[in-house]
Amino acid sequence: MRSLRSYVGGQWVASSNRATTLFNPSTEEAIAEIPAGEVDWKKMLRYSREKGTASLQALTFTQRGELLQAMAKTLHEGREELISLATANGGNTRGDAKFDIDGASFTLAAYADIGAKLGDTHIMVDGEPEQIGRTARFSAQHVRLPRAGVAVHINAFNFPAWGLAEKAAAALLAGMPVMSKPASATALVAHRMMEMILEQNILPKGALSLISGSSGDLLSHLQGQDVLSFTGSSDTAKILRATEGVVERSVHINVEADSLNAAVLAPDVELGSETFALFLNDVVRDMTQKTGQKCTAIRRIFVPEDKVDDVVAAMSERLADLVVGDPAADSNVRMGPVATETQFKDVRAGIERLAAQTEEGYGGTGEIEGRGSVGGKGYFVGPVLRVTRDAAKCEALHAHEVFGPVSTVAAYSGEASSAAALVRMGEGGLVTSLYSDDRKFFAELVPLIAAFHGRLYLGSEKIAGQSPGPGTVMPALLHGGPGRAGGGEELGGLRGMAFYQQRTALQGDKAILTAITGVK
Ligand code: NAP
Repeated sequence: MRSLRSYVGGQWVASSNRATTLFNPSTEEAIAEIPAGEVDWKKMLRYSREKGTASLQALTFTQRGELLQAMAKTLHEGREELISLATANGGNTRGDAKFDIDGASFTLAAYADIGAKLGDTHIMVDGEPEQIGRTARFSAQHVRLPRAGVAVHINAFNFPAWGLAEKAAAALLAGMPVMSKPASATALVAHRMMEMILEQNILPKGALSLISGSSGDLLSHLQGQDVLSFTGSSDTAKILRATEGVVERSVHINVEADSLNAAVLAPDVELGSETFALFLNDVVRDMTQKTGQKCTAIRRIFVPEDKVDDVVAAMSERLADLVVGDPAADSNVRMGPVATETQFKDVRAGIERLAAQTEEGYGGTGEIEGRGSVGGKGYFVGPVLRVTRDAAKCEALHAHEVFGPVSTVAAYSGEASSAAALVRMGEGGLVTSLYSDDRKFFAELVPLIAAFHGRLYLGSEKIAGQSPGPGTVMPALLHGGPGRAGGGEELGGLRGMAFYQQRTALQGDKAILTAITGVK
Protein backbone atom coordinates (compact mmCIF):
# COMPACT_ATOMS: atom_id res chain seq x y z
CA MET A 1 0.00 0.00 0.00
CA ARG A 2 1.34 3.44 -0.89
CA SER A 3 2.39 5.70 1.94
CA LEU A 4 1.87 9.41 1.30
CA ARG A 5 4.27 11.77 2.98
CA SER A 6 4.64 15.52 2.86
CA TYR A 7 7.31 17.23 0.83
CA VAL A 8 8.28 20.11 3.12
CA GLY A 9 11.58 21.73 4.02
CA GLY A 10 13.08 20.15 0.89
CA GLN A 11 12.41 16.53 1.94
CA TRP A 12 9.73 13.83 2.21
CA VAL A 13 8.53 13.45 5.80
CA ALA A 14 5.51 12.13 7.67
CA SER A 15 3.82 15.25 9.00
CA SER A 16 0.15 14.57 9.61
CA ASN A 17 -1.03 14.74 13.20
CA ARG A 18 -3.34 11.79 12.49
CA ALA A 19 -2.93 8.69 10.32
CA THR A 20 -5.46 8.45 7.49
CA THR A 21 -6.40 5.62 5.14
CA LEU A 22 -7.40 6.33 1.54
CA PHE A 23 -10.00 4.10 -0.11
CA ASN A 24 -11.19 3.17 -3.56
CA PRO A 25 -14.79 4.48 -3.44
CA SER A 26 -16.00 1.89 -5.96
CA THR A 27 -14.75 -1.10 -3.97
CA GLU A 28 -14.16 0.36 -0.49
CA GLU A 29 -10.69 -1.23 -0.55
CA ALA A 30 -7.87 0.58 1.25
CA ILE A 31 -5.35 1.79 -1.35
CA ALA A 32 -2.99 4.16 0.45
CA GLU A 33 -2.23 5.62 3.83
CA ILE A 34 -1.02 8.90 5.18
CA PRO A 35 1.13 8.01 8.19
CA ALA A 36 1.12 10.14 11.32
CA GLY A 37 4.21 12.19 12.04
CA GLU A 38 5.37 15.44 13.52
CA VAL A 39 7.09 18.41 11.93
CA ASP A 40 7.97 21.87 13.08
CA TRP A 41 5.63 23.91 10.87
CA LYS A 42 7.23 27.18 11.89
CA LYS A 43 10.55 25.90 10.54
CA MET A 44 8.96 24.52 7.34
CA LEU A 45 7.30 27.86 6.62
CA ARG A 46 10.60 29.65 7.24
CA TYR A 47 12.34 27.31 4.76
CA SER A 48 9.81 28.09 2.00
CA ARG A 49 9.80 31.79 2.85
CA GLU A 50 13.59 32.05 2.67
CA LYS A 51 14.58 29.59 -0.07
CA GLY A 52 11.46 29.73 -2.24
CA THR A 53 10.91 33.46 -2.10
CA ALA A 54 14.54 34.28 -2.92
CA SER A 55 14.80 31.88 -5.86
CA LEU A 56 11.43 32.72 -7.42
CA GLN A 57 11.80 36.46 -7.04
CA ALA A 58 15.21 36.34 -8.73
CA LEU A 59 13.44 35.07 -11.87
CA THR A 60 11.62 37.23 -14.40
CA PHE A 61 8.02 36.58 -15.43
CA THR A 62 9.29 34.89 -18.60
CA GLN A 63 11.45 32.52 -16.55
CA ARG A 64 8.67 31.74 -14.07
CA GLY A 65 6.38 31.09 -17.03
CA GLU A 66 8.93 28.59 -18.35
CA LEU A 67 8.73 26.71 -15.04
CA LEU A 68 4.95 26.52 -15.37
CA GLN A 69 5.28 25.28 -18.94
CA ALA A 70 7.64 22.54 -17.78
CA MET A 71 5.17 21.54 -15.03
CA ALA A 72 2.33 21.43 -17.59
CA LYS A 73 4.41 19.23 -19.90
CA THR A 74 5.39 16.85 -17.11
CA LEU A 75 1.79 16.41 -15.95
CA HIS A 76 0.62 15.93 -19.50
CA GLU A 77 3.24 13.24 -20.07
CA GLY A 78 2.15 11.51 -16.85
CA ARG A 79 -1.58 11.84 -17.53
CA GLU A 80 -2.34 8.13 -18.11
CA GLU A 81 -0.86 7.22 -14.74
CA LEU A 82 -2.67 10.13 -13.08
CA ILE A 83 -5.96 9.12 -14.73
CA SER A 84 -5.72 5.61 -13.32
CA LEU A 85 -4.95 7.00 -9.85
CA ALA A 86 -7.97 9.32 -10.11
CA THR A 87 -10.15 6.32 -10.93
CA ALA A 88 -8.74 4.31 -8.05
CA ASN A 89 -8.86 7.04 -5.42
CA GLY A 90 -11.68 9.31 -6.63
CA GLY A 91 -13.95 6.86 -8.47
CA ASN A 92 -13.51 9.04 -11.57
CA THR A 93 -14.55 7.88 -15.02
CA ARG A 94 -11.85 8.46 -17.62
CA GLY A 95 -13.69 11.59 -18.78
CA ASP A 96 -13.94 12.96 -15.24
CA ALA A 97 -10.27 12.28 -14.55
CA LYS A 98 -9.24 14.02 -17.79
CA PHE A 99 -11.38 17.01 -16.85
CA ASP A 100 -9.34 17.38 -13.65
CA ILE A 101 -5.88 16.43 -14.94
CA ASP A 102 -5.99 18.09 -18.37
CA GLY A 103 -7.56 21.10 -16.64
CA ALA A 104 -4.45 21.22 -14.43
CA SER A 105 -1.96 21.18 -17.34
CA PHE A 106 -4.10 23.57 -19.38
CA THR A 107 -4.22 26.12 -16.56
CA LEU A 108 -0.47 25.89 -15.95
CA ALA A 109 0.16 26.36 -19.68
CA ALA A 110 -2.22 29.34 -19.79
CA TYR A 111 -0.29 31.05 -16.97
CA ALA A 112 2.98 30.14 -18.71
CA ASP A 113 1.70 32.16 -21.69
CA ILE A 114 0.85 35.08 -19.42
CA GLY A 115 4.43 34.92 -18.08
CA ALA A 116 5.82 35.07 -21.60
CA LYS A 117 3.65 38.11 -22.35
CA LEU A 118 4.70 39.90 -19.17
CA GLY A 119 8.28 39.44 -20.32
CA ASP A 120 11.74 39.84 -18.84
CA THR A 121 10.81 41.97 -15.90
CA HIS A 122 10.12 41.50 -12.18
CA ILE A 123 7.69 44.32 -11.68
CA MET A 124 4.12 44.79 -12.86
CA VAL A 125 2.82 48.27 -13.45
CA ASP A 126 -0.74 48.90 -12.40
CA GLY A 127 -2.56 51.55 -14.36
CA GLU A 128 -1.17 54.69 -16.02
CA PRO A 129 1.39 57.13 -14.55
CA GLU A 130 -0.30 60.10 -12.85
CA GLN A 131 0.97 63.66 -12.69
CA ILE A 132 0.59 64.69 -9.05
CA GLY A 133 2.67 67.90 -8.95
CA ARG A 134 2.63 71.27 -10.66
CA THR A 135 4.70 69.77 -13.48
CA ALA A 136 4.94 66.25 -14.91
CA ARG A 137 8.27 65.83 -13.07
CA PHE A 138 6.43 64.98 -9.86
CA SER A 139 4.54 61.83 -10.84
CA ALA A 140 3.14 58.63 -9.45
CA GLN A 141 2.85 55.05 -10.62
CA HIS A 142 1.19 52.10 -8.94
CA VAL A 143 3.20 48.87 -9.13
CA ARG A 144 2.62 45.28 -8.04
CA LEU A 145 5.37 43.13 -6.54
CA PRO A 146 5.19 39.67 -4.94
CA ARG A 147 4.45 39.42 -1.24
CA ALA A 148 7.54 38.24 0.66
CA GLY A 149 5.93 35.18 2.23
CA VAL A 150 4.47 31.75 1.51
CA ALA A 151 1.18 31.00 -0.26
CA VAL A 152 -0.56 28.24 1.68
CA HIS A 153 -3.16 26.47 -0.45
CA ILE A 154 -5.79 24.18 1.06
CA ASN A 155 -7.88 22.27 -1.45
CA ALA A 156 -11.14 20.33 -1.61
CA PHE A 157 -11.36 16.62 -2.37
CA ASN A 158 -13.07 16.89 -5.75
CA PHE A 159 -10.30 18.34 -7.95
CA PRO A 160 -6.96 17.08 -6.61
CA ALA A 161 -5.03 17.91 -9.81
CA TRP A 162 -6.69 21.09 -11.01
CA GLY A 163 -6.99 22.42 -7.44
CA LEU A 164 -3.25 22.19 -6.92
CA ALA A 165 -2.38 23.56 -10.36
CA GLU A 166 -4.83 26.47 -10.67
CA LYS A 167 -3.76 27.95 -7.35
CA ALA A 168 -0.03 27.23 -7.85
CA ALA A 169 0.04 28.69 -11.38
CA ALA A 170 -0.99 32.20 -10.30
CA ALA A 171 1.14 32.17 -7.13
CA LEU A 172 4.36 30.89 -8.74
CA LEU A 173 4.02 33.27 -11.67
CA ALA A 174 3.52 36.15 -9.25
CA GLY A 175 6.71 35.03 -7.46
CA MET A 176 5.40 33.40 -4.25
CA PRO A 177 6.42 29.91 -3.07
CA VAL A 178 3.55 27.52 -2.47
CA MET A 179 2.69 24.99 0.24
CA SER A 180 -0.21 22.99 -1.16
CA LYS A 181 -2.46 20.75 0.90
CA PRO A 182 -4.82 18.44 -1.00
CA ALA A 183 -7.80 16.98 0.88
CA SER A 184 -6.58 13.82 2.61
CA ALA A 185 -9.22 11.44 1.24
CA THR A 186 -8.23 11.91 -2.43
CA ALA A 187 -4.59 12.99 -2.04
CA LEU A 188 -3.10 10.23 -4.22
CA VAL A 189 -3.22 12.21 -7.50
CA ALA A 190 -1.69 15.38 -6.06
CA HIS A 191 0.99 13.33 -4.30
CA ARG A 192 2.01 11.65 -7.57
CA MET A 193 1.97 15.02 -9.35
CA MET A 194 4.42 16.34 -6.77
CA GLU A 195 6.66 13.31 -7.29
CA MET A 196 6.58 13.83 -11.05
CA ILE A 197 7.51 17.51 -10.74
CA LEU A 198 10.38 16.63 -8.38
CA GLU A 199 11.60 13.80 -10.65
CA GLN A 200 11.99 16.34 -13.46
CA ASN A 201 13.76 18.78 -11.12
CA ILE A 202 11.69 21.63 -12.49
CA LEU A 203 11.37 24.09 -9.64
CA PRO A 204 13.93 25.84 -7.45
CA LYS A 205 14.23 24.69 -3.82
CA GLY A 206 11.36 25.74 -1.59
CA ALA A 207 9.15 26.86 -4.49
CA LEU A 208 6.58 24.08 -4.07
CA SER A 209 5.82 21.95 -1.02
CA LEU A 210 3.08 19.38 -0.54
CA ILE A 211 1.27 18.71 2.72
CA SER A 212 -0.17 15.21 3.06
CA GLY A 213 -2.79 14.83 5.77
CA SER A 214 -3.76 17.28 8.42
CA SER A 215 -1.71 20.45 8.65
CA GLY A 216 -1.59 20.65 12.47
CA ASP A 217 -0.83 24.11 13.80
CA LEU A 218 0.66 25.40 10.51
CA LEU A 219 -1.88 28.21 10.12
CA SER A 220 -1.14 29.66 13.53
CA HIS A 221 2.43 30.39 12.32
CA LEU A 222 1.40 32.41 9.28
CA GLN A 223 2.77 35.94 9.11
CA GLY A 224 1.64 39.17 7.50
CA GLN A 225 3.42 38.51 4.19
CA ASP A 226 1.94 35.00 3.86
CA VAL A 227 -1.39 34.31 2.20
CA LEU A 228 -3.96 31.56 2.62
CA SER A 229 -6.14 30.36 -0.22
CA PHE A 230 -8.79 27.84 0.74
CA THR A 231 -11.28 25.78 -1.27
CA GLY A 232 -13.79 23.68 0.60
CA SER A 233 -16.89 23.90 2.72
CA SER A 234 -18.08 27.11 4.36
CA ASP A 235 -17.93 25.37 7.74
CA THR A 236 -14.19 24.80 7.41
CA ALA A 237 -13.75 28.30 5.96
CA LYS A 238 -15.28 29.74 9.15
CA ILE A 239 -12.73 27.91 11.28
CA LEU A 240 -9.80 28.95 9.11
CA ARG A 241 -10.82 32.61 8.97
CA ALA A 242 -10.90 32.65 12.77
CA THR A 243 -7.44 31.06 13.27
CA GLU A 244 -5.49 33.20 15.70
CA GLY A 245 -2.43 33.76 13.49
CA VAL A 246 -4.62 34.63 10.53
CA VAL A 247 -6.68 37.18 12.46
CA GLU A 248 -3.84 38.72 14.46
CA ARG A 249 -1.46 39.25 11.58
CA SER A 250 -4.10 40.20 8.96
CA VAL A 251 -3.09 37.33 6.71
CA HIS A 252 -4.73 37.74 3.29
CA ILE A 253 -7.22 34.95 2.79
CA ASN A 254 -9.15 33.83 -0.26
CA VAL A 255 -12.12 31.50 0.17
CA GLU A 256 -13.87 29.41 -2.47
CA ALA A 257 -16.76 27.69 -0.72
CA ASP A 258 -20.28 26.39 -1.36
CA SER A 259 -22.45 27.54 -4.22
CA LEU A 260 -26.03 26.90 -5.26
CA ASN A 261 -25.42 27.62 -8.92
CA ALA A 262 -28.51 28.23 -11.01
CA ALA A 263 -29.63 27.88 -14.61
CA VAL A 264 -32.48 30.00 -15.99
CA LEU A 265 -34.39 28.98 -19.10
CA ALA A 266 -36.03 32.04 -20.67
CA PRO A 267 -39.63 31.86 -21.97
CA ASP A 268 -38.56 32.45 -25.60
CA VAL A 269 -36.67 29.15 -25.79
CA GLU A 270 -38.73 26.56 -27.66
CA LEU A 271 -38.37 22.84 -27.03
CA GLY A 272 -36.35 21.33 -29.85
CA SER A 273 -34.45 24.57 -30.56
CA GLU A 274 -30.67 24.71 -30.54
CA THR A 275 -30.70 26.85 -27.41
CA PHE A 276 -32.89 24.28 -25.67
CA ALA A 277 -30.43 21.54 -26.69
CA LEU A 278 -27.57 23.60 -25.23
CA PHE A 279 -29.53 24.06 -21.99
CA LEU A 280 -30.33 20.35 -21.81
CA ASN A 281 -26.73 19.29 -22.45
CA ASP A 282 -25.45 21.72 -19.83
CA VAL A 283 -27.87 20.80 -17.04
CA VAL A 284 -27.49 17.04 -17.56
CA ARG A 285 -23.69 17.28 -17.85
CA ASP A 286 -23.51 19.32 -14.68
CA MET A 287 -25.60 16.85 -12.71
CA THR A 288 -23.51 13.87 -13.71
CA GLN A 289 -19.95 15.02 -14.49
CA LYS A 290 -17.70 14.13 -11.54
CA THR A 291 -20.84 12.60 -10.01
CA GLY A 292 -22.08 16.12 -9.37
CA GLN A 293 -19.10 16.85 -7.10
CA LYS A 294 -18.24 20.05 -8.89
CA CYS A 295 -18.32 23.44 -7.21
CA THR A 296 -19.78 24.94 -10.40
CA ALA A 297 -22.49 22.28 -10.86
CA ILE A 298 -26.03 23.55 -11.49
CA ARG A 299 -28.16 22.80 -8.43
CA ARG A 300 -31.24 24.95 -9.22
CA ILE A 301 -32.85 24.91 -12.68
CA PHE A 302 -35.42 27.70 -13.09
CA VAL A 303 -37.91 27.01 -15.85
CA PRO A 304 -41.13 28.86 -16.90
CA GLU A 305 -44.15 27.18 -15.27
CA ASP A 306 -45.55 25.88 -18.55
CA LYS A 307 -42.28 24.11 -19.46
CA VAL A 308 -41.55 22.32 -16.20
CA ASP A 309 -43.01 18.97 -17.23
CA ASP A 310 -41.30 19.05 -20.64
CA VAL A 311 -37.92 19.84 -19.10
CA VAL A 312 -38.27 17.09 -16.50
CA ALA A 313 -39.24 14.62 -19.25
CA ALA A 314 -36.32 15.61 -21.49
CA MET A 315 -33.81 15.43 -18.63
CA SER A 316 -35.22 12.10 -17.40
CA GLU A 317 -34.83 10.58 -20.84
CA ARG A 318 -31.13 11.49 -20.85
CA LEU A 319 -30.56 10.39 -17.27
CA ALA A 320 -32.18 7.01 -17.93
CA ASP A 321 -29.31 6.19 -20.35
CA LEU A 322 -26.65 6.83 -17.75
CA VAL A 323 -24.71 3.80 -16.53
CA VAL A 324 -23.61 4.27 -12.90
CA GLY A 325 -20.92 2.02 -11.47
CA ASP A 326 -17.26 1.24 -11.05
CA PRO A 327 -15.41 2.90 -13.96
CA ALA A 328 -12.54 0.42 -13.61
CA ALA A 329 -14.85 -2.60 -13.89
CA ASP A 330 -16.96 -1.62 -16.91
CA SER A 331 -16.07 0.75 -19.76
CA ASN A 332 -19.77 1.60 -20.25
CA VAL A 333 -19.89 3.32 -16.89
CA ARG A 334 -20.50 7.06 -17.33
CA MET A 335 -20.86 8.06 -13.70
CA GLY A 336 -18.73 6.74 -10.84
CA PRO A 337 -19.39 6.71 -7.10
CA VAL A 338 -19.08 9.75 -4.83
CA ALA A 339 -15.59 10.04 -3.43
CA THR A 340 -15.89 8.96 0.19
CA GLU A 341 -18.15 7.36 2.74
CA THR A 342 -18.66 10.75 4.40
CA GLN A 343 -19.66 12.22 1.07
CA PHE A 344 -22.07 9.32 0.55
CA LYS A 345 -23.75 9.95 3.91
CA ASP A 346 -23.85 13.74 3.36
CA VAL A 347 -25.34 13.39 -0.12
CA ARG A 348 -27.97 10.91 1.09
CA ALA A 349 -28.90 13.22 3.96
CA GLY A 350 -29.06 16.21 1.58
CA ILE A 351 -31.36 14.31 -0.80
CA GLU A 352 -33.67 13.41 2.11
CA ARG A 353 -33.84 17.08 3.12
CA LEU A 354 -34.61 18.18 -0.43
CA ALA A 355 -37.09 15.33 -0.96
CA ALA A 356 -39.13 16.47 2.05
CA GLN A 357 -39.91 19.74 0.24
CA THR A 358 -40.03 18.65 -3.43
CA GLU A 359 -41.70 16.19 -5.80
CA GLU A 360 -39.86 13.41 -7.55
CA GLY A 361 -38.64 14.20 -11.06
CA TYR A 362 -36.28 11.32 -11.73
CA GLY A 363 -34.31 8.79 -9.69
CA GLY A 364 -36.27 8.81 -6.41
CA THR A 365 -33.78 9.43 -3.63
CA GLY A 366 -30.77 8.00 -5.45
CA GLU A 367 -30.62 4.37 -4.26
CA ILE A 368 -28.80 2.36 -6.91
CA GLU A 369 -26.64 -0.71 -7.30
CA GLY A 370 -23.48 0.30 -9.10
CA ARG A 371 -22.58 -1.66 -12.26
CA GLY A 372 -19.56 -3.84 -11.45
CA SER A 373 -20.03 -3.42 -7.72
CA VAL A 374 -19.10 -6.54 -5.78
CA GLY A 375 -21.08 -7.51 -2.68
CA GLY A 376 -23.00 -4.24 -2.59
CA LYS A 377 -19.79 -2.28 -2.00
CA GLY A 378 -19.14 1.23 -3.29
CA TYR A 379 -20.48 4.71 -2.59
CA PHE A 380 -22.90 4.83 -5.51
CA VAL A 381 -25.70 7.37 -5.79
CA GLY A 382 -27.99 7.48 -8.81
CA PRO A 383 -28.84 10.82 -10.45
CA VAL A 384 -31.66 12.55 -8.61
CA LEU A 385 -33.89 15.19 -10.19
CA ARG A 386 -36.37 16.89 -7.89
CA VAL A 387 -39.17 19.30 -8.83
CA THR A 388 -40.80 22.24 -7.08
CA ARG A 389 -43.64 24.41 -8.31
CA ASP A 390 -43.30 26.81 -5.40
CA ALA A 391 -39.64 27.73 -5.56
CA ALA A 392 -39.81 30.74 -3.25
CA LYS A 393 -41.05 28.60 -0.36
CA CYS A 394 -38.66 25.68 -0.96
CA GLU A 395 -36.12 26.52 1.73
CA ALA A 396 -33.85 23.47 1.17
CA LEU A 397 -33.42 24.41 -2.49
CA HIS A 398 -31.76 27.74 -1.70
CA ALA A 399 -30.05 26.93 1.57
CA HIS A 400 -28.21 23.65 1.21
CA GLU A 401 -25.73 22.47 -1.42
CA VAL A 402 -26.09 18.72 -2.02
CA PHE A 403 -22.61 17.92 -3.34
CA GLY A 404 -23.59 15.00 -5.56
CA PRO A 405 -25.59 14.11 -8.74
CA VAL A 406 -28.61 16.07 -7.59
CA SER A 407 -30.50 18.98 -9.06
CA THR A 408 -33.96 20.53 -8.85
CA VAL A 409 -36.23 21.91 -11.56
CA ALA A 410 -38.12 24.88 -10.11
CA ALA A 411 -40.95 26.82 -11.73
CA TYR A 412 -40.85 30.60 -12.16
CA SER A 413 -43.32 32.99 -13.81
CA GLY A 414 -41.24 33.62 -16.94
CA GLU A 415 -40.51 37.24 -15.91
CA ALA A 416 -36.81 38.16 -15.63
CA SER A 417 -37.49 39.87 -12.29
CA SER A 418 -39.05 36.74 -10.81
CA ALA A 419 -36.10 34.60 -12.01
CA ALA A 420 -33.73 37.15 -10.47
CA ALA A 421 -35.48 37.06 -7.10
CA LEU A 422 -35.14 33.25 -6.99
CA VAL A 423 -31.53 33.21 -8.18
CA ARG A 424 -30.64 35.76 -5.48
CA MET A 425 -32.06 33.47 -2.80
CA GLY A 426 -28.87 31.39 -3.23
CA GLU A 427 -27.09 34.29 -1.47
CA GLY A 428 -24.07 34.42 -3.74
CA GLY A 429 -22.67 31.87 -6.16
CA LEU A 430 -19.85 30.98 -8.53
CA VAL A 431 -21.82 30.92 -11.76
CA THR A 432 -25.36 31.18 -13.05
CA SER A 433 -26.23 30.27 -16.62
CA LEU A 434 -29.00 31.94 -18.62
CA TYR A 435 -30.46 30.45 -21.79
CA SER A 436 -32.25 32.69 -24.28
CA ASP A 437 -32.11 34.19 -27.74
CA ASP A 438 -33.90 37.31 -26.55
CA ARG A 439 -31.34 40.06 -25.96
CA LYS A 440 -33.85 42.03 -23.90
CA PHE A 441 -34.19 39.12 -21.45
CA PHE A 442 -30.40 39.08 -20.87
CA ALA A 443 -30.25 42.87 -20.61
CA GLU A 444 -32.96 42.85 -17.94
CA LEU A 445 -31.72 39.87 -15.92
CA VAL A 446 -27.93 40.39 -15.92
CA PRO A 447 -27.91 43.67 -13.91
CA LEU A 448 -30.29 42.13 -11.35
CA ILE A 449 -28.03 39.17 -10.55
CA ALA A 450 -24.46 40.10 -11.55
CA ALA A 451 -23.52 41.34 -8.06
CA PHE A 452 -24.36 37.89 -6.71
CA HIS A 453 -21.90 36.02 -8.94
CA GLY A 454 -18.30 35.82 -10.06
CA ARG A 455 -19.40 34.65 -13.50
CA LEU A 456 -22.54 34.65 -15.64
CA TYR A 457 -22.80 32.32 -18.61
CA LEU A 458 -25.05 33.60 -21.37
CA GLY A 459 -26.17 30.61 -23.41
CA SER A 460 -27.70 31.23 -26.83
CA GLU A 461 -27.98 29.63 -30.24
CA LYS A 462 -24.97 31.54 -31.58
CA ILE A 463 -22.50 30.03 -29.08
CA ALA A 464 -24.10 26.60 -28.75
CA GLY A 465 -21.61 24.93 -31.08
CA GLN A 466 -18.51 26.04 -29.19
CA SER A 467 -19.46 26.21 -25.53
CA PRO A 468 -18.03 23.74 -22.97
CA GLY A 469 -20.85 24.73 -20.56
CA PRO A 470 -20.86 26.78 -17.37
CA GLY A 471 -19.15 24.06 -15.33
CA THR A 472 -15.78 24.50 -17.04
CA VAL A 473 -13.61 27.00 -15.23
CA MET A 474 -11.37 28.81 -17.68
CA PRO A 475 -8.03 30.30 -16.60
CA ALA A 476 -8.81 33.58 -18.39
CA LEU A 477 -12.06 34.08 -16.44
CA LEU A 478 -12.69 34.79 -12.79
CA HIS A 479 -13.49 31.87 -10.53
CA GLY A 480 -15.12 32.70 -7.20
CA GLY A 481 -18.21 34.41 -5.95
CA PRO A 482 -19.61 36.55 -3.14
CA GLY A 483 -21.55 35.54 -0.03
CA ARG A 484 -22.15 31.81 0.31
CA ALA A 485 -19.48 31.15 -2.35
CA GLY A 486 -16.85 32.50 0.04
CA GLY A 487 -16.17 35.98 -1.35
CA GLY A 488 -13.04 34.86 -3.19
CA GLU A 489 -11.56 35.45 -6.62
CA GLU A 490 -9.11 33.18 -8.44
CA LEU A 491 -7.82 32.92 -12.02
CA GLY A 492 -9.09 35.58 -14.42
CA GLY A 493 -5.62 35.81 -16.01
CA LEU A 494 -3.65 38.66 -14.46
CA ARG A 495 -6.46 39.28 -11.94
CA GLY A 496 -5.71 36.02 -10.14
CA MET A 497 -2.11 37.12 -9.55
CA ALA A 498 -3.11 40.22 -7.59
CA PHE A 499 -3.80 38.16 -4.44
CA TYR A 500 -0.13 37.18 -4.36
CA GLN A 501 1.15 40.72 -4.91
CA GLN A 502 1.27 43.92 -2.91
CA ARG A 503 0.09 46.99 -4.79
CA THR A 504 2.30 49.96 -3.94
CA ALA A 505 1.98 53.57 -5.08
CA LEU A 506 5.34 55.11 -5.96
CA GLN A 507 5.53 58.91 -6.01
CA GLY A 508 8.56 60.91 -7.05
CA ASP A 509 10.67 62.20 -9.94
CA LYS A 510 9.28 60.79 -13.19
CA ALA A 511 12.79 59.85 -14.40
CA ILE A 512 13.36 57.77 -11.27
CA LEU A 513 9.98 56.08 -11.66
CA THR A 514 10.85 55.27 -15.27
CA ALA A 515 14.16 53.75 -14.19
CA ILE A 516 12.26 51.45 -11.81
CA THR A 517 9.29 50.51 -13.94
CA GLY A 518 10.46 50.97 -17.51
CA VAL A 519 7.33 53.07 -18.19
CA LYS A 520 8.17 56.34 -19.99
P1 NAP B 1 -13.73 20.49 3.57
O1 NAP B 1 -14.14 19.36 4.41
O2 NAP B 1 -14.02 21.86 4.05
O3 NAP B 1 -12.16 20.30 3.34
C1 NAP B 1 -11.45 21.13 2.48
C2 NAP B 1 -9.98 21.14 2.86
O4 NAP B 1 -9.83 21.76 4.14
C3 NAP B 1 -9.35 19.77 2.98
O5 NAP B 1 -8.04 19.85 2.45
C4 NAP B 1 -9.30 19.53 4.48
O6 NAP B 1 -8.28 18.68 4.89
C5 NAP B 1 -9.01 20.94 4.95
N1 NAP B 1 -9.30 21.20 6.34
C6 NAP B 1 -10.40 20.81 7.03
N2 NAP B 1 -10.31 21.29 8.31
C7 NAP B 1 -9.15 21.98 8.39
C8 NAP B 1 -8.50 22.70 9.45
N3 NAP B 1 -9.04 22.82 10.66
N4 NAP B 1 -7.30 23.28 9.18
C9 NAP B 1 -6.73 23.18 7.96
N5 NAP B 1 -7.32 22.51 6.93
C10 NAP B 1 -8.51 21.93 7.15
O7 NAP B 1 -14.36 20.40 2.12
P2 NAP B 1 -14.40 19.15 1.13
O8 NAP B 1 -15.36 18.17 1.68
O9 NAP B 1 -13.02 18.70 0.76
O10 NAP B 1 -14.99 19.84 -0.18
C11 NAP B 1 -16.36 19.95 -0.45
C12 NAP B 1 -16.80 21.39 -0.40
O11 NAP B 1 -15.91 22.20 -1.13
C13 NAP B 1 -18.15 21.60 -1.02
O12 NAP B 1 -18.92 22.31 -0.11
C14 NAP B 1 -17.88 22.44 -2.25
O13 NAP B 1 -18.88 23.38 -2.55
C15 NAP B 1 -16.64 23.14 -1.92
N6 NAP B 1 -15.88 23.42 -3.12
C16 NAP B 1 -15.81 24.69 -3.57
C17 NAP B 1 -15.08 25.00 -4.70
C18 NAP B 1 -14.97 26.40 -5.19
O14 NAP B 1 -14.11 26.65 -6.02
N7 NAP B 1 -15.79 27.31 -4.74
C19 NAP B 1 -14.41 23.99 -5.37
C20 NAP B 1 -14.50 22.70 -4.89
C21 NAP B 1 -15.24 22.42 -3.77
P3 NAP B 1 -8.53 17.12 5.24
O15 NAP B 1 -9.04 16.51 4.01
O16 NAP B 1 -7.18 16.66 5.63
O17 NAP B 1 -9.54 17.12 6.34
